[in-house]
Amino acid sequence: LSEHADRRRQISDALTGKKLDALIVTGPANVRYLTGFTGSNGVALLAPERAVLFTDPRYAIQAAEEADCRVRVARGPLLPRLMAAARRGKLQRLGFEMSRISWEAYNTLSESLWLGATLEPVRGLVEELRMIKSPAEISSIRRAMALAAAAFEAAVGSIRPGIRESEVAAELDYQMRRRGAQGPAFETIVAAGARSAQPHALPTAHTLRADELVLIDVGASRNGYASDMTRMLFLGRPGKRVKGLYGAVLEAQAAALDAVREGVAAAAVDRAARQVLRRHGLDRVFVHSTGHGLGLEIHEPPRLGKRERTRLRAGMVVTVEPGAYLAGFGGVRIEDTVLVTSQGCEILTPVTKDLRVL
Ligand code: ZN
Ligand code: ZN
Repeated sequence: LSEHADRRRQISDALTGKKLDALIVTGPANVRYLTGFTGSNGVALLAPERAVLFTDPRYAIQAAEEADCRVRVARGPLLPRLMAAARRGKLQRLGFEMSRISWEAYNTLSESLWLGATLEPVRGLVEELRMIKSPAEISSIRRAMALAAAAFEAAVGSIRPGIRESEVAAELDYQMRRRGAQGPAFETIVAAGARSAQPHALPTAHTLRADELVLIDVGASRNGYASDMTRMLFLGRPGKRVKGLYGAVLEAQAAALDAVREGVAAAAVDRAARQVLRRHGLDRVFVHSTGHGLGLEIHEPPRLGKRERTRLRAGMVVTVEPGAYLAGFGGVRIEDTVLVTSQGCEILTPVTKDLRVL
């Protein structure tokens, strides 16, 4: 059984448990996960004992090469074709991915229903399976992380006062591609000075100056799998306030990493980071969750957030990234990608966590 076929079998078993005849798979990462097809236009009909991928003529060759299930090439909209196949197959209770479909696409499905057929919302079924990574997936993420880390080290060498945030981001992206990445896993973040207080600041023409914090959040994509890391630089000699802020976030990150282990609730990892920041009076300026799963997508379940009940399991890959953001001054975030193990976690980000003083 291929890796994809094995996943399809697991989803089929889950469908049977939910008394569904089939799942209409519309999330691109889910289509890829279940069929191997990497193109941008594909939907899959997954029923026990059969799976069909629908795509358009632009992807006929690619789909034949990549997908290990039946492929139908359709001219025109895919969903009516999928529904026609479901009807011919006498499938009745059709699950659809409620968070992976547009209102318009839902209406298309609904208008193609026939007597006796129903649409049943399904939440996170494939995503749940995707949380636990196979050895092959882990090695892709490991590779993607090594590429981003090497690109980071190379790009740091080019950073000096007077360079623009956008130039640093371009250098990071270039270095990742040169080393064999398919590209950045998300838009590379380079934010200097007060802009680093915006957790998702995109690079601008702002030039790096002396005595500024610089936040770099970067990840590579490899075999479709993402990596994610954040490191901080300082141009010049950091003062007390910067050192204090950095030290607090570093301590919070260490506490969160310590909390990661199979069986621990995701919220407990978040709490570990938050408690440290509270002691430093910084919990109010830690404005996001402590981390997120990653894989075919840069943000996947589980989220390491306050109310997340999911228990961590060996084979999950998550980020651990507390931060503290002071408006008008700057922010600090320290982020590693880690593999959850039965004993704790393996940090996949091979980059030192000292504040880099340039
Ligand atoms: Zn990140
Ligand atoms: Zn992240």
